[in-house]
Amino acid sequence: MGKFDLTDDKIQQIADKFIVDKDVVKEIVSVYKDIDSILKQQYLAHIIRAAEEFVRQQIGNPTFIIKCVQRKPEASLEGFGSAQYIELKNRFLIYYHPSQSEKVLRVIIAHELGHLILRVKAKKTGLKNTEPLSTIFGLITILEKNRFYEEETSRFQYETWENMLADFSLLHNQWKGKVNIS
Ligand SMILES: [Zn+2]
Repeated sequence: MGKFDLTDDKIQQIADKFIVDKDVVKEIVSVYKDIDSILKQQYLAHIIRAAEEFVRQQIGNPTFIIKCVQRKPEASLEGFGSAQYIELKNRFLIYYHPSQSEKVLRVIIAHELGHLILRVKAKKTGLKNTEPLSTIFGLITILEKNRFYEEETSRFQYETWENMLADFSLLHNQWKGKVNIS
């Protein structure tokens, strides 16, 4: 069992610290799990979010979105990494097959994002939205993600559960202080 696993002991500690019923904590855990199940399918979410914002600014449309769409399991694997730019609806859809490994999926998504960004930038850069340029964009994207995971993620991590609980407890106490003033 890992030291950050959400054990019954931690649930009890949370209940004690914030003076709520243990069942309330359990209910919030189940609410979080609803979100977490969706979160696991948000491949390359940071870069997608950034690309979305970039395209919005470039085309002057604040409603533009990028969406990854899972194909049905029975769909053909041929052309699995395809994308569709629906201009009228201001959407860029990236289709992927559920049988792909998560690693390959990320490669596919990065490649398709390359097509989108190259297309948007085409007028300024003179670069064409073609192969292998989108592949090169995808490779640079994944390289940067790997560098990030390797070198930068540790600064976000807590060393211990106790430190994490203490930070949230501090936040809670500050909030209580503010409430007491008014
Ligand atoms: Zn392509």
